[in-house]
Amino acid sequence: AKRNGRQRSVFYEAGLGEAAPEQPDPAAELAAALDRGELTVAYQPLVDLRTGSPTGAEALVRWQHPTEGNRPPDTFIPLAEETGLIMEIGEFVLRDACRQAARWVGSADDSVPLMVTVNLSARQVTDPRTVDAVRAALTETDLDPHRLVLEITETVLMQDREAAATNLGKLKALGVRIAIDDFGTGYSSLAYLSRFPLDMLKVPREFVDGLGRDANADIVTRAIVELAGALGLLTVAEGVETDEQRRHVAELGCDLAQGYLFSRPVDAETVLALMTGLDVA
Ligand code: C2E
Ligand code: CA
Ligand code: CA
Repeated sequence: AKRNGRQRSVFYEAGLGEAAPEQPDPAAELAAALDRGELTVAYQPLVDLRTGSPTGAEALVRWQHPTEGNRPPDTFIPLAEETGLIMEIGEFVLRDACRQAARWVGSADDSVPLMVTVNLSARQVTDPRTVDAVRAALTETDLDPHRLVLEITETVLMQDREAAATNLGKLKALGVRIAIDDFGTGYSSLAYLSRFPLDMLKVPREFVDGLGRDANADIVTRAIVELAGALGLLTVAEGVETDEQRRHVAELGCDLAQGYLFSRPVDAETVLALMTGLDVA
C-alpha cells in the first residue's frame, strides 16, 4: 500500500498502481536470458608446450546481461545446477563447442591434434540425457568424437558413483575423452583413477601459481604429472600467467597449458584465426 505523507514516486505516476514491487526471480531471469540469446561461449586456447602452438580451446559460458554487463559463470552456474536449467545451458554450450571445433579442424593443419573441452556440472554427469545431448551435438556438427573432451570434477565422481560410472561409460563409448578438472582440489580418493575411463588431468591454477615459490606446489605438480604419465593420461597446466610458470610446467613434463600468458578466453573467431596462424594482434 502507498505510504501516507510521502512524495508520490515516478513509480506510481506511471500508473503501475498499488502492486507490490516485482521480486526478480533469478531462475526465470536466467531462463529468459538463454531464450534471448544473452548467453554466449568464450574459448580459451590450449597450447602444446612442446611446439608452442594452439591445439584447441576450453569452452567457457558467458552471460552478457543487457544492463549489468558480463556476469561471471560462478554467479549463475550454481543456480542453473539447482534448478536443472544447466541441462539446457549445457546442451547449448556443447553444440556451440562442437560447431566451432569442426570449423577449427576444417581450417587447421592435419597434423594438429585439435580438441575442444567442455565443462560438465555434477547434474550433467549423472543425468542420462547428457549422453543424448553429446551424441546429438557430435552428429549435427560431424565432429570426430575424439576431438571433444568433457571436463568433470573429482567431487562428482565421489558423490554419485553409480550414475557417474554408467554415464561416463556410455560417453566413452561414443568416442569422446574425459578430463578431470582441478585435479587434487576436490574431496576424492585416488581409487577412482583406475575405476573410471579417463584421458586427461588438469593441474589447477592454485598449484601452478605456487611453482617456484612454494616447494610443496612443485612436489605436488611433479607427482600429478608422473601419475598421469604412468596412467597414460595427458596433463594440462591451468592458469599459466608468466613465462616462468610456462617454463616450469614444461620442465615438469606437462603436455598442454592454458592461461592469461597465452590468451584470455576469447570469441570463437579469434580462436579460428589463431588456429590458422593469422595475426590476431
Ligand atoms: P574452470 O573450468 O576451472 O575454468 C577456468 C577459469 O579460470 C575460467 O574462469 C578462466 O577464465 C579462468 N582463467 C583462465 N586462465 C586464467 C589465468 O591465467 N589466470 C586466472 N586468474 N584465471 C584464469 P571463468 O570463465 O570465470 O569460469 C569459472 C568456472 O565456471 C569454471 O572454472 C567452471 O567451473 C565454470 N564454468 C564455466 N563455463 C561453464 C560451462 O559451460 N558449464 C559448466 N558446467 N561450468 C562452467
Ligand atoms: Ca574447466
Ligand atoms: Ca579448472
